[in-house]
Amino acid sequence: MQDSLTGRWLGRNLTPWRRPGGLGSAPRSPWPQDAQPAQRYSGTYDSHGWPPRAPRAVSVASVEESRALAVDASRALAAAGQADMIWGHVAVRDPQDRGIWIKAPGWGLEEVTEPRLQLVSFEARVLEGAGDPHKECHIHLEVLRADPRLVCSVHTHAAGAVAFAALDTPLLPVSHEGALFAGRDVPRFRTTGALVSTAARGVALATALGDAPAALMPRHGLLAAGTTVPAAVMHAVLLDRACRTQLLAMSAGPVQNYSSTGEARAKAAECWPPAQIDAGWRYLVRLADGPPLYPPI
Ligand SMILES: [Zn+2]
Repeated sequence: MQDSLTGRWLGRNLTPWRRPGGLGSAPRSPWPQDAQPAQRYSGTYDSHGWPPRAPRAVSVASVEESRALAVDASRALAAAGQADMIWGHVAVRDPQDRGIWIKAPGWGLEEVTEPRLQLVSFEARVLEGAGDPHKECHIHLEVLRADPRLVCSVHTHAAGAVAFAALDTPLLPVSHEGALFAGRDVPRFRTTGALVSTAARGVALATALGDAPAALMPRHGLLAAGTTVPAAVMHAVLLDRACRTQLLAMSAGPVQNYSSTGEARAKAAECWPPAQIDAGWRYLVRLADGPPLYPPI
């Protein structure tokens, strides 16, 4: 789908998920990428303790649309303050399942354009585009390989997330953003703080993520994933903002007031339904396209 004002590709991923059997057969879930407006947490978590993800869209995006989304997602993350010079990346699954669309090494997130994209196979070979793949392409390859429902994954070195992870304290629902995790602590990848430069480390990271919307990578950064591109980007943004808000509170004193598990679960569905996720995504894309009127959020 193209924005009527700007003509930019916004992606059919912006529409709510539909299963072949209709909404009535869709799994209930509090997660933003899964929830329908009328759906709420049903009290059933899967064996990992996280609610199940929705299936991938019946019809997938075109290659053209996927490439455009990879550009927009990269620039949106930069607009949200997650750029780290030329490091960090976002991957969009190729609609033909040939691999992932990801920026080529050497470019900052805010510098990404379609000619600067690569198509990297699940065997970490560059099929289209220039240069070698990112050393950490295994993050995306293994996360997307592990769950075919996922369309997009994000890895950044967001400073708030790294600083918060260093405290090794639970992430509490002290804000709307923190409620994304529905009262549960955010998963953490504890295998290594070094680069995820092998498939084995990528598999371990995908395992740590499980069905959660995002995970912290102590001594390194964050990982986020989604069944839509907007969901994956917003999960990364919300995790970093949740970390920063809790850091701010902890810098002033003990955290004493935060949502109960019940309130956090309700807020996960109420604050972060697909419409809110999409609205936040569209804002970030506009912010990336426009003049920097305000400091990064
Ligand atoms: Zn990294």
